[in-house]
Amino acid sequence: MPSYAFFQKKFVPLAEAKIGVMTHALHYGTALFEGIRGNWNSQQKQMYIFRLKEHYQRLESGCRLLKIKLPYSVDELCRLTVELVQRCGFEEDIYIRPLAYKSSEALGVRLHDLEADFLVFAIPWGRYLDMDTCRCCVSSWRRPDDNVIPPQIKSTGIYINSALTKTEAIENGFDEGIMLSPEGYVSEGSGENIFLVIDGQLVTPAIYNNILMGITRDTVIRLAQNELDIETIERPVVRSELYTASECFLTGTAAHITPIAEIDNRRIGSGGIGKITGKLQKLYFAVIRGDNPKYLAWCTPVYKK
Ligand code: PMP
Repeated sequence: MPSYAFFQKKFVPLAEAKIGVMTHALHYGTALFEGIRGNWNSQQKQMYIFRLKEHYQRLESGCRLLKIKLPYSVDELCRLTVELVQRCGFEEDIYIRPLAYKSSEALGVRLHDLEADFLVFAIPWGRYLDMDTCRCCVSSWRRPDDNVIPPQIKSTGIYINSALTKTEAIENGFDEGIMLSPEGYVSEGSGENIFLVIDGQLVTPAIYNNILMGITRDTVIRLAQNELDIETIERPVVRSELYTASECFLTGTAAHITPIAEIDNRRIGSGGIGKITGKLQKLYFAVIRGDNPKYLAWCTPVYKK
């Protein structure tokens, strides 16, 4: 099935969406992206885009920081994205990748005096961390401080940090790396937030621990509170707590909720899927596929019935 892109203000086949070699964003990382999931519900024959508006609100915040004037409002971006996915017509789980970027074909590192544009495309994409439980290491690469590169926005430039972390982890035989902050507190994975279960409560690093404020993280906090009556404490987490937590898991749009079996060759809990993690996973998978009526407001149906 052909993929499409919305590129330079029109819908085109993905293969035809090309940018020039002098495009500013390519040289200096002056772009912002989002990762959005469309989850296929095979019984309902419907595609549900999960928390579409929240993703574009995060993109819009990033644009303010990077001085990108988006030619579209959040509502227009949502409508464009639904139309794109309708055109693609996929009947499987997909990943939607919007990019707001400095599109001027001009050299010289800066944020000002540059044109910006927006593109989005969708591709079929199943599991990102392709395993039921993952093995992690603490990365030797630290997550940058907000005064170095703001970690709260998905600028393409900051993903060098994630790429260094991911490749180090894989080349050392792990599935994912967990970065610490410059002060040595636990921050997050290369493309996921992290949660620990300690004394039956959820604990996760806070905004000041240089994390991206994940939309899946927010989803988990709300589901735990509303459905399991479990509080989440956002606080600095020290490295050794990773090894002693009774459960640990990663969250992200791509990774969903992935249980961590091992960190730095130390088994977490029983090394399988923990009790609370399992309950959250079950709730989450029903919610994102539009199978929980209580949370349908988070799901944008794509196909007309
Ligand atoms: N941290 C980083 C560095 C990420 O790239 C992602 C993926 N967007 C996340 C956390 C999780 O964010 P979300 O749940 O919004 O996908």
